[in-house]
Amino acid sequence: MKTKTKKYVLTDDQMPTQWYNMVADMPHKPLPPLHPGTKKPVTKEELCSIFAEELMDQELSQERFIDIPEEVQNLYKIWRSTPLVRAYELEKALGTPAKIYFKNESTSPAGSHKPNTAIPQAYYNYKQGIKNMTTETGGGQWGSALSFACKFFGINLKVFMVKVSYNQKPYRKLMMNTWGAEVIPSPSSLTDAGRTVLAHDPDCSGSLGIAISEAVEMAVKNPGTTKYCLGSVLNHVLLHQTIIGEEALRQMEMAGDMPDVVIGCFGGGSNFAGIGFPFIRQNLCEGKNIRVIAVEPQSCPKLTRGTFQYDFGDTVGLTPLIPMYTLGHNFQPSDIHAGGLRYHGAGAIVSQLLKDGLIEARSIPQLETFQAGLLFAKTEGIIPAPESTHAIAMAIREAQQAKEEGKSKTILFNLSGHGLVDLYAYEQYFAGNLKNYEVSDETIGKSVKELERIL
Ligand SMILES: *Cc1c(COP(=O)(O)O)cnc(C)c1O
Repeated sequence: MKTKTKKYVLTDDQMPTQWYNMVADMPHKPLPPLHPGTKKPVTKEELCSIFAEELMDQELSQERFIDIPEEVQNLYKIWRSTPLVRAYELEKALGTPAKIYFKNESTSPAGSHKPNTAIPQAYYNYKQGIKNMTTETGGGQWGSALSFACKFFGINLKVFMVKVSYNQKPYRKLMMNTWGAEVIPSPSSLTDAGRTVLAHDPDCSGSLGIAISEAVEMAVKNPGTTKYCLGSVLNHVLLHQTIIGEEALRQMEMAGDMPDVVIGCFGGGSNFAGIGFPFIRQNLCEGKNIRVIAVEPQSCPKLTRGTFQYDFGDTVGLTPLIPMYTLGHNFQPSDIHAGGLRYHGAGAIVSQLLKDGLIEARSIPQLETFQAGLLFAKTEGIIPAPESTHAIAMAIREAQQAKEEGKSKTILFNLSGHGLVDLYAYEQYFAGNLKNYEVSDETIGKSVKELERIL
């Protein structure tokens, strides 16, 4: 008897050797990032004062494909290709005629898709002779991915971790320490930014904005030796993540299938872009008609209810102004457990694609996402990250719609990470402590009104 094929994995010589740059095929290119002081397009030189040079070449590149350096390909092999899995058990539980596939990015050593960009970012910094890097982390996923990556290139990493997470999430901190990074609760007394905040409020529990300010300051003050880096939003980060979709294209082909719908959860856009961009290329260049859907939390609805405007990438206003769908950098998202999705804006490329109707966006309430995550854990066995449950919930909605319509369709979603270090969130869900958060129009209107009108 022939058993069903459950998962598709690529051999080393089937692996993609190039990342895909979405910009090359976009009918309208994203508007340029602007210098926050002069409001003129930022130059590469300005960007290179805090970021590695080759990463900024990629940030501004119009090339369609960019070679993945051999060193990076070799390190990707530690866990890539990631499996493309047919979710038979989930399909059965839903009684749907739809076929559901997921790309399992939770198999990386850090437990999410983030090492896909952490490895090349550490590599290009190393190539430029950089010995020290800084970054910030909220929940700890980006910090742990970069700690893992820096070790391979002998780079010392300082991670400014929002103090409240530092205290609440000891296991992410310990992962970073295990890989050799120094984790500093932010606000700290190591930087002017931190000292200023502490002088006002010695018990300040920190924020992502303050942590970014501290990490950037440390790079700015040591220009020759220390660089800063970011785990989402920017074009080069999205570029590196396309390894996910490039593999998935090949794996869907192995499965003899092609998705009608591709789904990713959405924080700053990197895992969504990773799974989605290569399929959007199929639409733009191969005449396909694949729906590509970004899923955000109901409590942080920048894509579905935000405004298209220039805004800062951070909450303090240090980064270049980026053309994006945004809720305003002062928007304070509710304290939902999908920490990686509590971000006010979206990357420039994704924002332009949404504006041009080339992708769709949906928002989903917190309780529905946890219900979906639980069903997934009980059927497919993997406990998903609270962020990833948004993609699962949307896949379930699509599968249920297929059932109602009595039509089959093929659904592909990205499982961006596992939830083994986020079990506290599940504990809160089981205890009945989680709720949905609907944001009022007034709240959004107020923070959006504070934006300077550049467009
Ligand atoms: C960081 C993170 C996200 C959100 O970030 P994107 O850049 O939007 O992908 C989603 N899922 C997981 C597991 C994460 O760690």
